[in-house]
Amino acid sequence: MGFDAGSPYGRARASVSRIPGPRSGALRGVALAGARGDNWAVLRVIFLGTSSARPTVSRNTSALAVQREGDLHLFDCGEGTQRQMMCYGVGFNVQDIYISHMHADHYLGVIGLLRTMSLQGREQGMRIFTPRVGVSVLRQAIGLELEELPFPVDIRRLSPGERVRHAGYTIHAFRADHPGGANGYVLKEDDRPGRFYPERARRLGVPEGPLFGRLQRGEAVELNDGQTVEPDQVMGPARPGRSLVYTGDTRPSTATVEAANGCDLLIHEATFAEEETERAERTGHSTAKQAGRIACRAGVRKLVLTHLSARYSERPFVLEREARRVCSDGCPVTVAYDGLTVEVPLRDA
Ligand SMILES: [Zn+2]
Ligand SMILES: [Zn+2]
Repeated sequence: MGFDAGSPYGRARASVSRIPGPRSGALRGVALAGARGDNWAVLRVIFLGTSSARPTVSRNTSALAVQREGDLHLFDCGEGTQRQMMCYGVGFNVQDIYISHMHADHYLGVIGLLRTMSLQGREQGMRIFTPRVGVSVLRQAIGLELEELPFPVDIRRLSPGERVRHAGYTIHAFRADHPGGANGYVLKEDDRPGRFYPERARRLGVPEGPLFGRLQRGEAVELNDGQTVEPDQVMGPARPGRSLVYTGDTRPSTATVEAANGCDLLIHEATFAEEETERAERTGHSTAKQAGRIACRAGVRKLVLTHLSARYSERPFVLEREARRVCSDGCPVTVAYDGLTVEVPLRDA
């Protein structure tokens, strides 16, 4: 469901980058988390469009697919996103779409995507979250007044600070600094229970079996001799879940630093290089250098730059170099390309 690993195009064209694990120290040297049998959900981002304003030959306009276990969400949906989903093997089983703001390069793709889903016989409802101004614009653009879709489409306003609860994680909006009102989004997993130490349980006289499971689920258990064993007697401390942040379009902002504080993956727009700093400020965007500084201040574990102006479409190394120069803490920087897939491992895996 969601990610169709069987797509010949998706497999051939997308490459996977992984954030370094705690012991690896190298960008691509990380064993797949979950190999230890820990209860592990995949958290994966597929860049469907990495160009700003208009598509280029090699880059489509903004869209990200975020897959977590069986869930699939889109963050922005520029024109032609549905074709990118086919190219990169992302299924159409999308649950929610989170639109950052109502500039055409971020939402026009919703119109065609919903029509295709109708043709495919979709029955499951779709939720679209957007800043306030987007609700009426989207209703009209999608043509809900004119033509009914065979499945319910629920367009909801999501203001900065508001969150959407999913099983095991939340997605919340924060304020981006961009003309017309724009959201950035944070996906944050719940903390996971600490590691279970079976030998401690055995030492306390807990028989192997269902009681082990109850302790791992955080329940206290009573033994035959009347003694009670609490979970914290046999479990390590809670382990933090993963988090990723998508800025959408924004000037460099303190709100982003706060939202991205210590996150595993920051996806920051970098429309321009330093030579166009004034233009970035005037149009409500960031340079790669500014994005690098934000990542540094927030102490993120990995930075991916996206939303490139057409003039850097074939010269992404200019932006990468700029951001790297200011990332003095060694945070890995990548400039996204269409089809790039980034997996976020658990920190303790
Ligand atoms: Zn844009
Ligand atoms: Zn914009």
